[in-house]
Amino acid sequence: MANDFDLVVIGAGSGGVRAARMAAGHGARVAIIEERFFGGTCVNVGCVPKKLFAYGAGFANEFQLAADYGYTVDGWSFDWATLRDNKTREIARLNGIYRRLLDNAGVTVFEGHGRIEGPGRVSVDGDRQLSAGHILIATGGKPFVPEFPGNERVRISDDLFYLDKLPDTVAVVGGGYIASEFASILNGLGVTVHQLYRRELFLRGFDHDVRVFVAEQMGAHGVKLHFNTDVASVQERDGRQVLNLTGGGELVVDEVFYATGRVPRLDGLLADGVSLDTGDNGAVRVDDQLRTSMDGVYALGDVTDRLQLTPVALAEGTWLAAWLFAKDKPQGPVDYRDVPTAVFCQPNIGTVGLTEEQALERHATVRVYRGRFRPMRYTLGDIQEKTLVKLIVDDASDRVVGLHMAGEEAAEITQGFAVAIRMGATKADFDATLGIHPSSAEEFVTLR
Ligand code: FAD
Ligand code: NDP
Repeated sequence: MANDFDLVVIGAGSGGVRAARMAAGHGARVAIIEERFFGGTCVNVGCVPKKLFAYGAGFANEFQLAADYGYTVDGWSFDWATLRDNKTREIARLNGIYRRLLDNAGVTVFEGHGRIEGPGRVSVDGDRQLSAGHILIATGGKPFVPEFPGNERVRISDDLFYLDKLPDTVAVVGGGYIASEFASILNGLGVTVHQLYRRELFLRGFDHDVRVFVAEQMGAHGVKLHFNTDVASVQERDGRQVLNLTGGGELVVDEVFYATGRVPRLDGLLADGVSLDTGDNGAVRVDDQLRTSMDGVYALGDVTDRLQLTPVALAEGTWLAAWLFAKDKPQGPVDYRDVPTAVFCQPNIGTVGLTEEQALERHATVRVYRGRFRPMRYTLGDIQEKTLVKLIVDDASDRVVGLHMAGEEAAEITQGFAVAIRMGATKADFDATLGIHPSSAEEFVTLR
């Protein structure tokens, strides 16, 4: 007997929606199951609202700068509820768009909890049974908070987007993407922010020079950075949160946000007796064709152990739909080379390719070019905004193997250069490219 669907996708986030739409476009009969919000983490509690808040957090700086250009901007004030509610309205609009994209592509949408009952069988809310030629797990991730006394008192990234009131003082625990972005956003909105990180220097995995520079600049913007600091317990005192630190001492704040990584969301996904191979952190193991250990079941995005980035989930969704259903199959697996990425902390970080440390491990000798400057926009007044640019070049081939920037528009600038890096641009190509003057981006082609 024919299956109800050629493909059943569990999770309508970045990767699931993309795979479902594309598969339907290739002529497959597709269903998708979503239990919480269309568009998933990125649209609802991730990239999009975060970036809107990051824009919002930049205005205080802009008002200060505007005065240097002759504007009178006295008496401005900020209303959290306006920003929060305007953001929520925009997200609701995007939810509708994602839902309509699925409908218009001819995908059958089920709202409810998806569970794999066995090979080729999925249920919706344990009730409606679907048979499927292929099943795709695209259930994403969820915040991880370590165990310690009082951990029920802390908030996670989802909470920031719906706070009733902006606190006066917060502790943000963690030293990765989310903690650094949240610390910058809250600081920009006028909150006193303490960022706590357990090791010597945050943003592990990024280029060392960038990490040092960002720590210096975030500190200059007012974020109170506490490195080599971890939390033993949290308790309430007089309506405030008291963090007892592992090295002794305490920190008293109004709210504590934990951003200590994310783990795969597999809650209630597998019926009793159904199992899948997972890695140490619970991530679903997949091969380079995104196949799990169970026949006919695939997985992509944050639920796997690859890069937790929306463009990666999208690329995987596009690839899988074509691999399973297109007339012309993709030539090879998903290409994860030189994935550019940005951290929207203040200053922004943009990066593509190898860090200096990685380049030294992979290449016999490397040349490193660095530039540090004050963007022209800030030269009329006292704001000490700085930018760092850095290129790492493999000596033998002259190829630029790493490009890093921390400063205004780092994400925008790095995206363009990422194409050149992927194409194998050499330092000589950078040198031969004329700059756009005056711009910050031109620094990359004038480094000598
Ligand atoms: P998700 O988008 O998480 O979608 C999974 C969906 O599955 C969810 O809608 C969930 O409700 C649903 N689901 C789960 N289980 C079930 C079930 N059993 N049945 C039915 N439905 C289910 N990435 C970037 O590239 N740039 C950024 O700036 C960026 N900022 C971020 C900021 C924050 C605060 C966070 C948390 C993440 C950010 N990310 C960013 C990461 C990005 O959001 C994720 O990499 C991306 O959303 C992963 O997509 P996905 O499809 O794997 O999962
Ligand atoms: P990250 O993996 O980036 O950072 C986690 C941080 O928490 C690290 O500093 C880690 O420290 C620390 N940590 C982990 N466990 C503990 C613990 N038990 N106690 C104390 N500290 C701990 O995760 P995030 O949660 O910040 O973000 C998740 C992912 O989402 C990111 O990796 C990224 O892929 C994606 N994302 C992307 C964004 C973007 O593209 N702009 C923005 C936000 C998220 P250590 O260094 O010691 O391991």
